[in-house]
Amino acid sequence: METLVSPLLTWFADHARDLPWRHTRDPYAIWVSEVMLQQTQVATVVPYWERWMRTFPDVAALARAPLERVLKLWEGLGYYTRARNLHRAARLLYREHGGQFPRDFESVRALPGVGRYTAGAICSLAFHQPTPVLDGNVARVLTRVFDLHLPLHRAGTQRRLWALAEALVGAAPEQVPPGLRRRRSWRARRVAENPCGALNEALMELGASVCTPRQPRCPDCPWADRCRARARGRAHLLPRRRRPAMAAPRRVLAWVCERRGRVLLRRRPAGGVNAGLWEFPGVPAAARTPPLRAARAALGTAVQRVDPWLTTRYTITQHRYRLEVYRVELNGRPVTLPTGCRWVGRGALERLTLTAAHRRVADLLLAGEPA
Ligand code: SF4
Repeated sequence: METLVSPLLTWFADHARDLPWRHTRDPYAIWVSEVMLQQTQVATVVPYWERWMRTFPDVAALARAPLERVLKLWEGLGYYTRARNLHRAARLLYREHGGQFPRDFESVRALPGVGRYTAGAICSLAFHQPTPVLDGNVARVLTRVFDLHLPLHRAGTQRRLWALAEALVGAAPEQVPPGLRRRRSWRARRVAENPCGALNEALMELGASVCTPRQPRCPDCPWADRCRARARGRAHLLPRRRRPAMAAPRRVLAWVCERRGRVLLRRRPAGGVNAGLWEFPGVPAAARTPPLRAARAALGTAVQRVDPWLTTRYTITQHRYRLEVYRVELNGRPVTLPTGCRWVGRGALERLTLTAAHRRVADLLLAGEPA
């Protein structure tokens, strides 16, 4: 381990990306960044994180905010359970810890939405503890460096990878290259002051920027001469993953239905995916279901005709969807309102929190653009 840690810390002191949450030790700010980064690219997260920290600068501000406002700020990041859990956890911290972030690993891990990875990241980055992290990037780097041809999804493989990550972060405090302590750059200071946090960040960054899935840039890697998979010419074969069977996308029809300057929206029911968020009404449909028939079945005989407007694709968890959006022309009859539906003005259409695919539809509608 010792021969690996020092070159990695030196590399990070030279190459760490300048990200806004790398200039703070505030556990709350780090927690928010880690949760946002769980399913989202860094470049997307940066403006969201900055806006979030301006709006909810601490646990108390987040705990006091209504959930609706929290979800609105999250709009576009997807996987809204993350935002709900942040909000629930902030209220719990406010109630039971006086708004202070706990410092011990188990208390951090007990917060809603915080697993071993996130707790490890917070404790190492904010509290300088030797708690490991293991995400997809780290797993890829470790399987290659140690040339582990083990199926990634097996519990035994995961245990082995966690143990390696733990050994690396545990060795970090003793392995800070002495020259780094004399350097003045923020990167070098970050490594020297918190080697455990820096080691974890370096591992993740190496996986994200150098040891990439398809074409690892081995000549730029601080472990190039220590990497066993590279020496054996099989880095590209690792890690071993189970390939999920690709199911055909599920077809969903949605209707943009306007009457007297108002638009029909539906609120998603409690307890399901994206609960409480708004969307245009629609239905899952079989491949051959005619859109007009489906619209009349849901909205009644007020539907005169439907015109295709746009088609988009999105993924929720492991499911892929094909969303077909239709503009609905109504006759003078009353519209049957499906459960959860409501007519809203254009101002509300801007204000309400919509799922990502439906936000795109709403923005096009508000802009008055053809799809
Ligand atoms: S040498 Fe190549 S394969 Fe090995 S860890 Fe570095 S980038 Fe990944």
